[in-house]
Amino acid sequence: MASDNILLDVKGLVKYFPVRKGVFRRTVAHVKAVDNVDMFIPEGETLGLVGESGCGKTTAGRSILRLIEPTAGDIVFRSKKLAPGGEESVEIDVAKVGRKELKALRREMQIIFQDPYSSLNPRMTVGAIVGEPLLVHGMAKGAEREDRVKALLAAVGLKPDHMKRYPHEFSGGQRQRIGVARALALDPQLIICDEPVSALDVSIQAQVINLLEDLQGEFGLTYLFIAHDLSVVRHISTRVAVMYLGKIAELAQTEELFTNPKHPYTEALMSAVPVPDPAWSVERILLEGDVPSPVAPPSGCYFHPRCRYAKDICKTDEPAYRDLGDLHFATCHFADSLDLQPIKSEE
Ligand code: SF4
Repeated sequence: MASDNILLDVKGLVKYFPVRKGVFRRTVAHVKAVDNVDMFIPEGETLGLVGESGCGKTTAGRSILRLIEPTAGDIVFRSKKLAPGGEESVEIDVAKVGRKELKALRREMQIIFQDPYSSLNPRMTVGAIVGEPLLVHGMAKGAEREDRVKALLAAVGLKPDHMKRYPHEFSGGQRQRIGVARALALDPQLIICDEPVSALDVSIQAQVINLLEDLQGEFGLTYLFIAHDLSVVRHISTRVAVMYLGKIAELAQTEELFTNPKHPYTEALMSAVPVPDPAWSVERILLEGDVPSPVAPPSGCYFHPRCRYAKDICKTDEPAYRDLGDLHFATCHFADSLDLQPIKSEE
Protein backbone atom coordinates (compact mmCIF):
# COMPACT_ATOMS: atom_id res chain seq x y z
CA MET A 1 0.00 0.00 0.00
CA ALA A 2 2.19 2.81 -1.27
CA SER A 3 0.65 5.83 0.32
CA ASP A 4 2.28 8.55 2.36
CA ASN A 5 -0.23 8.42 5.16
CA ILE A 6 -0.06 4.66 5.74
CA LEU A 7 1.79 4.32 9.03
CA LEU A 8 1.74 0.53 9.26
CA ASP A 9 1.40 -1.89 6.37
CA VAL A 10 1.45 -5.58 7.24
CA LYS A 11 1.60 -8.19 4.49
CA GLY A 12 1.59 -11.96 4.76
CA LEU A 13 2.21 -11.99 8.52
CA VAL A 14 2.70 -15.53 9.78
CA LYS A 15 3.41 -16.80 13.27
CA TYR A 16 3.63 -20.55 13.79
CA PHE A 17 4.61 -22.06 17.14
CA PRO A 18 6.28 -25.48 16.96
CA VAL A 19 4.70 -28.40 18.82
CA ARG A 20 7.53 -30.56 20.14
CA LYS A 21 7.33 -34.14 21.39
CA GLY A 22 9.56 -36.99 22.54
CA VAL A 23 12.98 -37.17 24.18
CA PHE A 24 14.59 -35.24 21.33
CA ARG A 25 11.88 -32.60 21.35
CA ARG A 26 11.26 -33.08 17.65
CA THR A 27 8.83 -30.69 15.98
CA VAL A 28 5.77 -32.78 15.12
CA ALA A 29 3.37 -30.01 14.13
CA HIS A 30 2.79 -26.26 14.26
CA VAL A 31 0.20 -24.10 15.96
CA LYS A 32 -0.83 -21.74 13.17
CA ALA A 33 -1.58 -18.77 15.42
CA VAL A 34 -1.33 -16.13 12.68
CA ASP A 35 -1.65 -17.37 9.14
CA ASN A 36 -1.02 -14.92 6.30
CA VAL A 37 -2.53 -11.74 7.67
CA ASP A 38 -2.67 -8.48 5.69
CA MET A 39 -3.69 -5.16 7.23
CA PHE A 40 -2.74 -1.52 7.06
CA ILE A 41 -3.40 1.50 9.27
CA PRO A 42 -3.35 5.10 8.02
CA GLU A 43 -1.79 7.67 10.34
CA GLY A 44 -4.14 8.94 13.06
CA GLU A 45 -6.66 6.10 12.58
CA THR A 46 -7.74 3.20 14.78
CA LEU A 47 -7.94 -0.29 13.36
CA GLY A 48 -10.01 -2.55 15.60
CA LEU A 49 -8.94 -6.21 15.57
CA VAL A 50 -11.67 -8.45 16.90
CA GLY A 51 -12.38 -12.16 17.26
CA GLU A 52 -13.01 -14.94 19.75
CA SER A 53 -10.32 -15.75 22.26
CA GLY A 54 -7.56 -17.85 20.69
CA CYS A 55 -8.12 -16.43 17.19
CA GLY A 56 -4.58 -15.04 17.03
CA LYS A 57 -5.26 -11.32 17.48
CA THR A 58 -2.90 -10.85 20.44
CA THR A 59 -0.18 -12.90 18.73
CA ALA A 60 -0.59 -10.73 15.62
CA GLY A 61 -0.20 -7.54 17.71
CA ARG A 62 2.89 -8.82 19.48
CA SER A 63 4.44 -10.09 16.24
CA ILE A 64 4.04 -6.63 14.70
CA LEU A 65 6.09 -5.18 17.56
CA ARG A 66 8.45 -8.19 17.47
CA LEU A 67 7.80 -8.87 21.12
CA ILE A 68 7.57 -12.35 19.62
CA GLU A 69 9.45 -13.09 16.41
CA PRO A 70 7.18 -13.51 13.37
CA THR A 71 7.72 -16.61 11.24
CA ALA A 72 7.27 -14.68 7.98
CA GLY A 73 5.81 -11.51 6.53
CA ASP A 74 6.53 -7.83 5.95
CA ILE A 75 5.78 -5.26 8.65
CA VAL A 76 6.42 -1.90 7.00
CA PHE A 77 6.37 1.03 9.39
CA ARG A 78 6.80 4.69 8.37
CA SER A 79 9.38 5.82 10.90
CA LYS A 80 10.17 9.43 11.70
CA LYS A 81 12.96 8.72 14.13
CA LEU A 82 14.98 6.59 11.70
CA ALA A 83 14.56 8.99 8.76
CA PRO A 84 17.86 10.28 7.39
CA GLY A 85 18.55 14.02 7.96
CA GLY A 86 16.16 16.26 6.08
CA GLU A 87 13.60 13.55 5.35
CA GLU A 88 10.30 13.48 7.19
CA SER A 89 9.95 9.73 7.40
CA VAL A 90 11.28 6.51 5.99
CA GLU A 91 9.70 3.08 5.42
CA ILE A 92 11.30 0.43 7.62
CA ASP A 93 10.50 -3.28 7.55
CA VAL A 94 10.22 -4.03 11.26
CA ALA A 95 10.48 -7.77 10.54
CA LYS A 96 13.97 -7.38 9.08
CA VAL A 97 15.75 -4.77 11.20
CA GLY A 98 18.59 -5.56 13.62
CA ARG A 99 18.58 -5.02 17.38
CA LYS A 100 19.83 -1.42 17.29
CA GLU A 101 17.18 -0.24 14.84
CA LEU A 102 14.54 -2.26 16.66
CA LYS A 103 15.37 -0.43 19.90
CA ALA A 104 15.00 2.90 18.09
CA LEU A 105 11.66 1.74 16.64
CA ARG A 106 10.40 0.86 20.12
CA ARG A 107 10.25 4.62 20.75
CA GLU A 108 7.66 4.89 18.00
CA MET A 109 5.71 1.65 18.53
CA GLN A 110 4.37 0.97 22.02
CA ILE A 111 1.89 -1.40 23.65
CA ILE A 112 -0.76 -1.17 26.37
CA PHE A 113 -1.42 -4.55 27.98
CA GLN A 114 -4.70 -6.10 29.05
CA ASP A 115 -3.92 -6.62 32.70
CA PRO A 116 -2.74 -3.34 34.16
CA TYR A 117 -1.73 -5.02 37.40
CA SER A 118 0.60 -7.75 36.17
CA SER A 119 2.15 -5.43 33.58
CA LEU A 120 3.31 -2.96 36.27
CA ASN A 121 6.23 -3.88 38.52
CA PRO A 122 4.76 -3.90 42.06
CA ARG A 123 8.12 -2.94 43.60
CA MET A 124 8.52 0.22 41.54
CA THR A 125 6.87 3.55 42.24
CA VAL A 126 4.61 4.97 39.57
CA GLY A 127 7.23 7.65 38.89
CA ALA A 128 9.87 4.98 38.25
CA ILE A 129 7.50 2.92 36.06
CA VAL A 130 6.42 5.81 33.85
CA GLY A 131 9.95 7.27 33.72
CA GLU A 132 11.70 3.95 33.01
CA PRO A 133 11.41 4.16 29.18
CA LEU A 134 12.98 7.64 29.31
CA LEU A 135 15.89 6.19 31.26
CA VAL A 136 16.34 3.12 29.04
CA HIS A 137 16.37 5.24 25.88
CA GLY A 138 18.52 7.99 27.44
CA MET A 139 15.92 10.62 26.70
CA ALA A 140 15.70 12.44 30.04
CA LYS A 141 17.16 12.24 33.52
CA GLY A 142 16.97 14.01 36.86
CA ALA A 143 14.59 16.95 37.15
CA GLU A 144 13.80 16.87 33.44
CA ARG A 145 12.65 13.26 33.75
CA GLU A 146 10.55 14.08 36.80
CA ASP A 147 8.86 16.97 34.99
CA ARG A 148 8.16 14.75 32.01
CA VAL A 149 6.62 12.05 34.25
CA LYS A 150 4.41 14.65 35.95
CA ALA A 151 3.23 15.90 32.55
CA LEU A 152 2.47 12.32 31.43
CA LEU A 153 0.50 11.63 34.60
CA ALA A 154 -1.47 14.85 34.06
CA ALA A 155 -2.17 13.80 30.44
CA VAL A 156 -3.83 10.58 31.66
CA GLY A 157 -5.78 12.25 34.48
CA LEU A 158 -3.51 11.39 37.43
CA LYS A 159 -1.92 13.74 39.95
CA PRO A 160 1.80 14.63 40.31
CA ASP A 161 1.94 13.20 43.85
CA HIS A 162 0.86 9.80 42.48
CA MET A 163 4.48 9.46 41.36
CA LYS A 164 5.53 8.34 44.81
CA ARG A 165 2.93 5.62 45.22
CA TYR A 166 2.99 1.96 44.23
CA PRO A 167 0.66 0.15 41.76
CA HIS A 168 -1.27 -1.70 44.48
CA GLU A 169 -2.48 1.65 45.86
CA PHE A 170 -4.53 2.29 42.71
CA SER A 171 -7.82 1.01 41.30
CA GLY A 172 -7.89 -1.06 38.08
CA GLY A 173 -8.84 1.97 35.98
CA GLN A 174 -6.07 4.10 37.49
CA ARG A 175 -3.55 1.32 36.92
CA GLN A 176 -4.51 1.21 33.26
CA ARG A 177 -3.96 5.00 33.15
CA ILE A 178 -0.44 4.39 34.49
CA GLY A 179 0.07 1.84 31.69
CA VAL A 180 -1.11 4.41 29.15
CA ALA A 181 1.25 7.07 30.60
CA ARG A 182 4.17 4.64 30.32
CA ALA A 183 3.25 3.88 26.69
CA LEU A 184 3.17 7.62 25.93
CA ALA A 185 6.53 8.37 27.59
CA LEU A 186 8.60 8.03 24.41
CA ASP A 187 6.21 10.06 22.27
CA PRO A 188 5.21 7.10 20.04
CA GLN A 189 3.30 7.21 16.77
CA LEU A 190 1.66 3.78 17.01
CA ILE A 191 0.20 2.14 20.10
CA ILE A 192 -1.01 -1.45 20.09
CA CYS A 193 -3.80 -1.58 22.64
CA ASP A 194 -4.05 -5.26 23.59
CA GLU A 195 -7.49 -5.72 25.17
CA PRO A 196 -6.86 -2.58 27.27
CA VAL A 197 -10.31 -2.51 28.88
CA SER A 198 -11.27 -6.20 29.03
CA ALA A 199 -10.15 -6.57 32.65
CA LEU A 200 -11.99 -3.45 33.83
CA ASP A 201 -15.52 -2.87 35.15
CA VAL A 202 -17.93 -1.66 32.48
CA SER A 203 -18.24 1.78 34.10
CA ILE A 204 -14.46 2.21 34.07
CA GLN A 205 -14.11 0.88 30.52
CA ALA A 206 -15.85 3.96 29.11
CA GLN A 207 -13.48 6.30 30.97
CA VAL A 208 -10.38 4.55 29.61
CA ILE A 209 -11.83 4.46 26.07
CA ASN A 210 -12.60 8.18 26.26
CA LEU A 211 -9.08 8.84 27.53
CA LEU A 212 -7.58 6.90 24.61
CA GLU A 213 -9.73 8.88 22.17
CA ASP A 214 -8.72 12.21 23.74
CA LEU A 215 -5.04 11.29 23.65
CA GLN A 216 -5.34 10.24 20.03
CA GLY A 217 -6.66 13.71 19.17
CA GLU A 218 -4.07 15.49 21.30
CA PHE A 219 -0.97 13.57 20.20
CA GLY A 220 -2.02 12.35 16.72
CA LEU A 221 -1.70 8.71 17.76
CA THR A 222 -2.47 5.69 15.61
CA TYR A 223 -3.97 2.64 17.32
CA LEU A 224 -4.27 -1.04 16.63
CA PHE A 225 -7.06 -1.81 19.10
CA ILE A 226 -7.37 -5.50 19.95
CA ALA A 227 -10.56 -6.62 21.69
CA HIS A 228 -13.21 -9.33 21.76
CA ASP A 229 -16.04 -6.89 22.56
CA LEU A 230 -17.63 -5.73 19.31
CA SER A 231 -19.44 -2.77 20.92
CA VAL A 232 -16.16 -1.33 22.23
CA VAL A 233 -14.44 -1.87 18.89
CA ARG A 234 -17.33 -0.26 17.02
CA HIS A 235 -17.13 2.79 19.24
CA ILE A 236 -13.42 3.48 18.92
CA SER A 237 -12.40 2.16 15.49
CA THR A 238 -12.14 3.84 12.10
CA ARG A 239 -11.98 0.41 10.47
CA VAL A 240 -12.46 -3.08 11.87
CA ALA A 241 -10.75 -6.38 11.04
CA VAL A 242 -12.48 -9.62 12.13
CA MET A 243 -10.09 -12.48 12.77
CA TYR A 244 -10.87 -16.19 12.76
CA LEU A 245 -8.40 -19.02 13.35
CA GLY A 246 -5.34 -16.93 12.51
CA LYS A 247 -6.75 -15.29 9.39
CA ILE A 248 -8.61 -12.07 8.61
CA ALA A 249 -12.19 -13.08 7.77
CA GLU A 250 -13.31 -9.53 6.96
CA LEU A 251 -11.98 -5.97 7.11
CA ALA A 252 -13.91 -2.77 6.31
CA GLN A 253 -14.78 0.73 7.48
CA THR A 254 -16.52 0.39 10.83
CA GLU A 255 -20.07 1.36 9.83
CA GLU A 256 -19.75 -0.48 6.50
CA LEU A 257 -18.77 -3.67 8.36
CA PHE A 258 -21.64 -3.44 10.83
CA THR A 259 -24.35 -2.46 8.37
CA ASN A 260 -23.17 -4.47 5.35
CA PRO A 261 -21.28 -7.55 6.60
CA LYS A 262 -19.90 -9.85 3.92
CA HIS A 263 -18.59 -12.78 5.95
CA PRO A 264 -20.85 -15.27 7.77
CA TYR A 265 -18.53 -15.24 10.80
CA THR A 266 -18.93 -11.45 11.16
CA GLU A 267 -22.70 -11.89 10.90
CA ALA A 268 -22.68 -14.49 13.69
CA LEU A 269 -20.47 -12.41 15.98
CA MET A 270 -22.63 -9.33 15.47
CA SER A 271 -25.86 -11.18 16.12
CA ALA A 272 -24.68 -11.70 19.72
CA VAL A 273 -24.30 -7.95 20.36
CA PRO A 274 -27.27 -6.55 22.32
CA VAL A 275 -29.18 -3.87 20.39
CA PRO A 276 -30.76 -1.16 22.58
CA ASP A 277 -33.60 -0.53 20.08
CA PRO A 278 -36.56 -2.92 20.72
CA ALA A 279 -37.94 -2.20 17.25
CA TRP A 280 -34.81 -3.69 15.71
CA SER A 281 -34.96 -7.47 15.86
CA VAL A 282 -31.88 -9.54 15.17
CA GLU A 283 -31.84 -13.30 14.77
CA ARG A 284 -29.28 -14.68 17.18
CA ILE A 285 -26.97 -17.01 15.26
CA LEU A 286 -25.48 -19.73 17.40
CA LEU A 287 -22.14 -20.93 16.19
CA GLU A 288 -22.10 -24.72 16.35
CA GLY A 289 -19.12 -26.46 17.91
CA ASP A 290 -15.84 -25.12 19.20
CA VAL A 291 -13.22 -23.14 17.35
CA PRO A 292 -11.19 -25.83 15.51
CA SER A 293 -7.59 -26.45 16.56
CA PRO A 294 -5.04 -24.13 14.94
CA VAL A 295 -2.70 -27.15 14.86
CA ALA A 296 -4.90 -28.86 12.28
CA PRO A 297 -7.27 -26.26 10.82
CA PRO A 298 -10.11 -27.52 8.59
CA SER A 299 -9.54 -27.96 4.87
CA GLY A 300 -10.88 -25.38 2.42
CA CYS A 301 -12.46 -22.46 4.26
CA TYR A 302 -11.37 -22.58 7.92
CA PHE A 303 -14.89 -21.54 8.93
CA HIS A 304 -16.80 -24.22 6.96
CA PRO A 305 -17.56 -26.64 9.86
CA ARG A 306 -19.45 -23.83 11.64
CA CYS A 307 -20.85 -21.92 8.68
CA ARG A 308 -24.57 -22.15 7.96
CA TYR A 309 -24.03 -21.13 4.32
CA ALA A 310 -21.26 -23.67 3.57
CA LYS A 311 -21.39 -25.49 0.23
CA ASP A 312 -19.23 -28.31 -1.16
CA ILE A 313 -16.57 -25.99 -2.53
CA CYS A 314 -16.03 -24.55 0.98
CA LYS A 315 -14.77 -27.93 2.19
CA THR A 316 -12.10 -28.24 -0.47
CA ASP A 317 -11.07 -24.79 -1.75
CA GLU A 318 -9.63 -22.11 0.47
CA PRO A 319 -11.25 -18.74 -0.32
CA ALA A 320 -8.96 -15.82 -1.14
CA TYR A 321 -8.82 -12.66 0.95
CA ARG A 322 -10.15 -10.20 -1.62
CA ASP A 323 -11.16 -6.59 -2.06
CA LEU A 324 -14.90 -6.37 -2.77
CA GLY A 325 -14.66 -2.64 -3.52
CA ASP A 326 -14.23 0.46 -1.37
CA LEU A 327 -11.51 -1.31 0.62
CA HIS A 328 -14.00 -3.83 1.98
CA PHE A 329 -12.15 -7.16 2.18
CA ALA A 330 -13.55 -10.62 2.93
CA THR A 331 -12.35 -14.23 2.82
CA CYS A 332 -15.46 -16.03 1.57
CA HIS A 333 -16.33 -17.67 -1.77
CA PHE A 334 -19.81 -16.17 -1.63
CA ALA A 335 -19.10 -12.74 -0.17
CA ASP A 336 -20.69 -11.02 -3.19
CA SER A 337 -23.92 -12.99 -3.16
CA LEU A 338 -24.85 -13.71 0.47
CA ASP A 339 -27.54 -11.48 1.98
CA LEU A 340 -26.29 -11.26 5.56
CA GLN A 341 -28.04 -9.77 8.54
CA PRO A 342 -26.70 -6.29 9.45
CA ILE A 343 -26.65 -4.59 12.79
CA LYS A 344 -28.45 -1.29 13.35
CA SER A 345 -26.66 1.79 12.01
CA GLU A 346 -25.38 4.18 14.70
CA GLU A 347 -26.00 7.21 12.48
FE1 SF4 B 1 -19.02 -20.01 4.81
FE2 SF4 B 1 -18.14 -21.01 2.52
FE3 SF4 B 1 -17.98 -18.41 2.94
FE4 SF4 B 1 -16.43 -20.10 4.28
S1 SF4 B 1 -16.39 -19.72 2.08
S2 SF4 B 1 -17.52 -18.38 5.12
S3 SF4 B 1 -17.79 -21.83 4.57
S4 SF4 B 1 -19.87 -19.61 2.75
